[in-house]
Amino acid sequence: MKVLVTGGAGYIGSHTCVELINSSIDTVVLDNLCNSSEKSLDRVREITGTSPVFYKGDVRDEALLERIFSENEFDCVIHFAGLKCVPESVKKPAEYYENNLGSTLVLCKVMARHGCKRLVFSSSATVYSAVNEMPLKEDSIKGDCTNPYGWTKYMGERILTDIATADPEWAIALLRYFNPIGAHESGLIGEDPRGIPNNLMPFIAQTAVGRRDRLTVFGNDYNTKDGTGVRDYLHVVDLAKGHVAAIGYIMEHKGAEPINLGTGTGISVLDMVETFKQVNQVDVPYGFGPRRAGDVATCYAQADKAKRLLGWRAEKTLEDMCRDTWRWQSSNPDGYGE
Ligand code: NAD
Ligand code: UDP
Repeated sequence: MKVLVTGGAGYIGSHTCVELINSSIDTVVLDNLCNSSEKSLDRVREITGTSPVFYKGDVRDEALLERIFSENEFDCVIHFAGLKCVPESVKKPAEYYENNLGSTLVLCKVMARHGCKRLVFSSSATVYSAVNEMPLKEDSIKGDCTNPYGWTKYMGERILTDIATADPEWAIALLRYFNPIGAHESGLIGEDPRGIPNNLMPFIAQTAVGRRDRLTVFGNDYNTKDGTGVRDYLHVVDLAKGHVAAIGYIMEHKGAEPINLGTGTGISVLDMVETFKQVNQVDVPYGFGPRRAGDVATCYAQADKAKRLLGWRAEKTLEDMCRDTWRWQSSNPDGYGE
């Protein structure tokens, strides 16, 4: 079995490379390193003993993709490559549509030309509308996205679903991730955001290590158990294993299938801060600030479909997520150092 991993040097991609290699799957990475470091792939080799084959380049470069598909016979593709920063997408919408949708279109064109019609796509819980009751199910209402990033995932799913309808040979898993956090237990790979982190866990970790003065908790007047926002955080290694399970599924089933990858449990901002402090015996100074525009109070998955279709469920605990994040952050205070 041979798999092309676009965006494989990134946060989720590098953890998925480890799980693919550990499952004896030949792993080839295509990444332009616009939001990652090649060092992550050296670390994948340190963990697994095997280096993924690496092509540096852009998924939208059709000539390059053509060459990669001529040099390799892939059983399927995992498409992580894309831009993912919500506030940046509001400032640079065209860049987001161009990258996230352009890469998906070029990839599908070249895949079809080479008769490779199995794809795992990185989607997101952000495709769901805010009007839904919790938990979010795969058939909950979608749309009303509050930013261009969310719309690129919504439209990406739409494009892929139409492609699978037009040509029943396609098998596509539309994996809707909830909130991936944590790091590989070795502490060798983890999340390394550029600039000031937007997401909660990297901000907590950088505050604990002294790179940020204090965390601002965005809102403490939500209708939740302690007034702070509630999300469904899952360990990135569990998420990576979900991709291996999804490959097993699309080897056997055609069509485009949306599947939530989450734990099904909601955790508040204060739960997270307190667990991080207690598990790691570190201080995380914080204060309360106003709500962040576009945030919902609560978001968590119904995770049954992944169990039923993929035989996958998240196994790691919140304590594991906090401990493994800290092991990565404290042993790599500047991430990959680039
Ligand atoms: P990441 O930025 O760490 O990884 C994405 C990788 O894609 C990076 O290595 C980047 O250099 C590469 N890339 C971007 N555009 C490219 C292009 N045109 N050609 C080649 N390489 C390109 O992000 P991540 O957190 O690992 O996310 C992976 C995927 O999962 C993304 O599609 C993201 O939108 C999606 N996702 C992430 C989250 C999350 O919270 N991290 C949640 C839901 C969905
Ligand atoms: N959050 C926060 N301070 C931060 C970053 C995030 O209080 O510096 C809160 C945010 O309001 C939300 C939760 O933490 O309730 C998760 O935010 P994140 O951006 O990680 O995920 P998303 O909101 O995109 O699901």
